[in-house]
Amino acid sequence: MPYLDDPLIVFTDLDGSLLDHHDYSWAPAQGWLDQLAEHNIPVIITTSKTSAEVSALQHTLKLNHLPFIAENGALIQLAGGDNPAHHLIGADYQHIRDVLVDLRKRYDFEFRGFGDVTPQQVADWTGLTLTNARLAMQRDASEPLMWFGNTLDFSRMEKLLREEGLALTRGGRFWHVMGQDAGKGQAVRWLAEQYQQQRDQAMVTLGLGDGPNDISMLEAVDFAVVILGHHDQDMPLNKEDRNVYRTTRHGPEGWRQGLDHFIAIK
Ligand SMILES: [Mg+2]
Repeated sequence: MPYLDDPLIVFTDLDGSLLDHHDYSWAPAQGWLDQLAEHNIPVIITTSKTSAEVSALQHTLKLNHLPFIAENGALIQLAGGDNPAHHLIGADYQHIRDVLVDLRKRYDFEFRGFGDVTPQQVADWTGLTLTNARLAMQRDASEPLMWFGNTLDFSRMEKLLREEGLALTRGGRFWHVMGQDAGKGQAVRWLAEQYQQQRDQAMVTLGLGDGPNDISMLEAVDFAVVILGHHDQDMPLNKEDRNVYRTTRHGPEGWRQGLDHFIAIK
């Protein structure tokens, strides 16, 4: 069980985890955020959101001096300076769009991606404001899409995307198309390694997430908090039971439960 003075890093999903699935509030988690900040423990946002969306949120959450992981691990935004560097894993957005548009033309697949629709449509799908919908549409390395076709076509599209080096991951509301080698898990490992080198000590990692797109992150960390989700997907983890905690509450209340369970306060 890690202590607050251990070299700990916390990786957290946003939607349905730190942020409430319905109203995007994080109030129940604030006490823990303050404690972690006091002990200089980095809280790394690890989300399917875009870097434009996270930058705004990071400020509100007072985490803007820290790196973050966006677009389901396809983009790692490093911290520091006015124009901090970022690290892309997988394919860039234009390439993903080109492949999707081409496949749809050839096979009549029934889907709509963010690149196909208006900000108003994205706002309707997500419940975001129009301003935030626009931020969600500023993409670097992944495309969320709504699938309207049948399952046979879906498997066929999955196979064709794989042949192009792309993969489909399931998020809370959307499917996400991104580079095959990209994912929250890979990004978490990469960033934890940077911390380890910088601090010249082994880091202890803890991750919190509620959806299937969090599984690779939860596998990559030492301690995994599976937050009760608003979905019926299994969340199997290949990990020792004592390093996994499954919450009985949703969203930020589950987030708080997870840290209460794993982090010891001396
Ligand atoms: Mg989530």
